[in-house]
Amino acid sequence: MTEGLDGVTQTVEPATAKSIKAAEIPVVASYVSPPIEMIAQAVATKFDDRTWPQWGAKLADDVVGRLNSELRQAAFLGESIPKIRKRFEKVAGLSRTSPERLARTSVNAASNRARAAIFEANKDIVDGYMFIATLDSRVSRICSALDHKVFRLGDPDTPWPPRHPNCRSVMVPHFDDIENLGERAAQGGDVPATTDFETFLKRQDEAFQKEALGETRWRAWKNGVPMEGFATPSRELTVAELKRLYPKQMAFAA
Ligand SMILES: [Zn+2]
Repeated sequence: MTEGLDGVTQTVEPATAKSIKAAEIPVVASYVSPPIEMIAQAVATKFDDRTWPQWGAKLADDVVGRLNSELRQAAFLGESIPKIRKRFEKVAGLSRTSPERLARTSVNAASNRARAAIFEANKDIVDGYMFIATLDSRVSRICSALDHKVFRLGDPDTPWPPRHPNCRSVMVPHFDDIENLGERAAQGGDVPATTDFETFLKRQDEAFQKEALGETRWRAWKNGVPMEGFATPSRELTVAELKRLYPKQMAFAA
């Protein structure tokens, strides 16, 4: 295993790393390292029109903006110190979770961009990428819709993770014989690597399915709206949009 790949694998969640490991076994020995500049460039790649350092600056601005506005309101209302402290704690809570979220998402971005560089440097043996979402009830609808989708190497429309803040999805190399490779991690225990999110969800009980999809989309799914119908690679579709696209299956929501 090359140093570059090793570093990448360590930055993702253990459960995800495990599923990647299974997918990478056949070529690990023959991977070559991409130039370090490619990885550096990857980190500078924009997500939602902002580079990762710009995301950090925006979040910092948001927190300062929130604090100012809370202070103005408190002053206007002539609030007591304990009340003002409550307001600040609320904003501090925001500032605690946002940098963590930013850090987690930017690690995902950097690791997936580094993967892109590794695949590019190994295009003689890798024929494409496969999107791997996390098999649990917290996965986003954007990512569950993309799970197990395969993209040709270098396809400019490849929906690289992260697709949204806090995204845990990864891209793994795709080979024609990948279907026979081991298992992937899932909530409740490992499943065969061939299991996509929809297949996984079908095997869960109703409570789990509803937690994952929400009541309305669960009914839509039961009525035949496919998993990939719930989102584009960038956002969830609204119920109104689903009604337009699947009038029959969504008739209950009228
Ligand atoms: Zn995601």
